[in-house]
Amino acid sequence: MTKRVAFAQLTSCWGCDQSLVDLHFRLLDVLPELEIVYWPAVVDYKLKDLEALPDDSIHLGFVEGSCRTNEDLHLLKTMRKKSKLLIAWGSCSCYGGVQGLGNQWPIEELVERKFLQADSVTDPRIPESNMPGFLGIVKPNPAHVKFEMVLPGCPPTSDNTYDVVEALLTGKPFDLPERTVCDECPKEREDKHIVKFYRTHEGKIDPNKCLLDQGYLCLGFATIGLCGAQCPTVNTPCKGCFGPPPSVKDHGAKIISALGAVAEMSPEELKEAFPDPIGSFYFTDYAASYLSSITAKKRKEKEE
Ligand code: SF4
Ligand code: SF4
Ligand code: SF4
Repeated sequence: MTKRVAFAQLTSCWGCDQSLVDLHFRLLDVLPELEIVYWPAVVDYKLKDLEALPDDSIHLGFVEGSCRTNEDLHLLKTMRKKSKLLIAWGSCSCYGGVQGLGNQWPIEELVERKFLQADSVTDPRIPESNMPGFLGIVKPNPAHVKFEMVLPGCPPTSDNTYDVVEALLTGKPFDLPERTVCDECPKEREDKHIVKFYRTHEGKIDPNKCLLDQGYLCLGFATIGLCGAQCPTVNTPCKGCFGPPPSVKDHGAKIISALGAVAEMSPEELKEAFPDPIGSFYFTDYAASYLSSITAKKRKEKEE
């Protein structure tokens, strides 16, 4: 029997969707087993098509992106209602994503920044009549509804997505590993004595040696190893986009404590090296950390 599949996009860049194309001919292995019943990125489905489906009639529901607007939340809840198995697909969905960095400011300030202050603004006006209703804070989707599976990544690799679909089709388990990007990385490591951090365009990277040992902020040591160390293998530091391994509760705190142990630098020097610590250490998962760091009362105030 074919499995009915749906893909929903909340606030996101749609990169997770596009990563599916990287499956190339492997798509042909799974496509005959799937009946796509909702995928607006590819076929002209409307929300009413999803709403009209019977409850629990979708076998696999993929949710990309996180909830920034009331419409996002409605779509997420509809996907939950219509799907037997729901997958939080990509780091936006699992952790809130880049848009979770917006939790540092009230929504009114974000709107002003976007429509009135950004350098690219040529006609500074807030389009009141066309604005969606915004949620006060971005949360990881599993804080809104229950998910049967989470697959982080920005985007997840096509192999990761293939493994998840295969696991769901065959009933095989798919557990997130405790290994890190460093465990997958072939570079030589030494004792770390970091006295200065460099931007990637500074200095000359030795391609055989660990980037962090050389003073480039590579977050592979605190990031779940699912991508095959894609970035360090091409001499680009890991930005931590897949988030932390399951046992780490706060990605940025783990990174800061590890850097504190290996950087032979004063607090002032570290501050100067990382003028945007939240952006540097919580690239895709600030919303997850933010949610666990505030009280229930504060959360309620922010949500209103
Ligand atoms: S997880 Fe990354 S690739 Fe996927 S939608 Fe979010 S920002 Fe885009
Ligand atoms: S280059 Fe990055 S991923 Fe590789 S060993 Fe060093 S810190 Fe880990
Ligand atoms: S190496 Fe790091 S930044 Fe690059 S894809 Fe993997 S987790 Fe993301």
